[in-house]
Amino acid sequence: MSANNSAMNTPNPAAVQPDYPGNLYVVSAPSGAGKSSLVKALLELDARLMVSVSHTTRAPRGQEQHGREYWFVGQDEFQAMIDRGDFFEWAQVHGNRYGTSRAAIERRLQAGEDVVLEIDFQGALQIKQIFPAAVLIFILPPSWEELLQRLRRRGEDTSEVIEQRMINARHEVAQARHFDYIVVNALFDTALFDLKTIVHAQRLKYSTQRRSRPAVFDALQLS
Ligand code: 5GP
Repeated sequence: MSANNSAMNTPNPAAVQPDYPGNLYVVSAPSGAGKSSLVKALLELDARLMVSVSHTTRAPRGQEQHGREYWFVGQDEFQAMIDRGDFFEWAQVHGNRYGTSRAAIERRLQAGEDVVLEIDFQGALQIKQIFPAAVLIFILPPSWEELLQRLRRRGEDTSEVIEQRMINARHEVAQARHFDYIVVNALFDTALFDLKTIVHAQRLKYSTQRRSRPAVFDALQLS
């Protein structure tokens, strides 16, 4: 649907169950902004956070393992999952399809666990539509120059791919206004602190505290 060769599905509002006891955090960013490293560090710091493993039609890269980085599935299996309504959201990103399985997320949220999704902006916006309580976080690079330098330093891509990633990044960053929170990843530790703060603030909301501390609320006759 977008300049970066992406497409997304229509969310299925029938699946909405907004009153889960767990919190859902959705993190998006353009490639090279540092999303994966930040989410990894956040998970190491916070044992209450679980990351959701997505399904994808792309082939594994390097040391990636089935069930660890992704559930790697064929086009037919992915399509069958779409047809069965198995996905909370799914989108096409850079020519491959990616999706978040509804069963895994709902089971965890219902059990009161906090779940992190590391997905593209299309998936994030679908989630917000069907599950407004989700906390959407967008990670920005401090400048276009710095993003370009990081993509070059990574040394993973050819100059053509880097150029395409920069074009895609402009389109992705334009979606940041639809997110609840912005984290600028200029300094890693500062950005990590910002992420932790967002997670913590969500847990301090009245509705979350009401669910997680029922004894206190009952004792104080708070509804
Ligand atoms: P990669 O192939 O580099 O691992 O991921 C490419 C893009 O797809 C990244 O922006 C990543 O966040 C996104 N992505 C990964 N899993 C999902 C998912 O389940 N749904 C959506 N919408 N995007 C995803």
